[in-house]
Amino acid sequence: MTQITLVKGDITKMHPDAIVNAANSSLLGGGGVDGAIHGAAGTELVHECRLLAGCKTGEAKITKGYNLPAKHIIHTVGPVWNGGSKKEEHLLYSCYYKSLELCAQHKLTTIAFPNISTGIYHFPKQLAAATAIKAVTDFCESEPEAFTEITFVCFDDENYTIYQSLLAATHITNYE
Ligand code: ADP
Repeated sequence: MTQITLVKGDITKMHPDAIVNAANSSLLGGGGVDGAIHGAAGTELVHECRLLAGCKTGEAKITKGYNLPAKHIIHTVGPVWNGGSKKEEHLLYSCYYKSLELCAQHKLTTIAFPNISTGIYHFPKQLAAATAIKAVTDFCESEPEAFTEITFVCFDDENYTIYQSLLAATHITNYE
């Protein structure tokens, strides 16, 4: 059984097996949550990231967590919102789903996600939240034993309110 949890706060302070980074395709750091994660993990992270040779939009790669309380980081590249006709929804779904697949392959059982693409990349927050929740519930349906806990970490009030109402509407507190 997977527990799906919603929290408001800073993902760099959390200590699941893996936190997810909303990275850019270079994987060499940036602003927003990416900058916060690189800042908290320390410079060894960028050294490991250099060896990964970037990441495509909708894909995911794993590194160690270094100075973070989380053991690992899953770096995924969200789509830039471009009006909705550039497969943005499909690519965002893929970010969540492939992050979960990669974690499961490494036998990691707890994971925390930020609200990928809803900052600098301007993906509409309501649609992003619905897409994230759909990807997570689809994954849990296909692999119900893979995770003990999946956490959505919202940094801003607007995302937190959206997730609260969507999760309540879908009656998700624990996913079986
Ligand atoms: P993107 O380029 O994918 O839009 P951003 O980092 O700009 O990435 O924003 C993604 C989300 O991460 C936003 O909702 C933003 O509020 C949130 N965010 C920023 N800093 C943190 C943090 N330290 N912990 C968790 N979420 C964060």
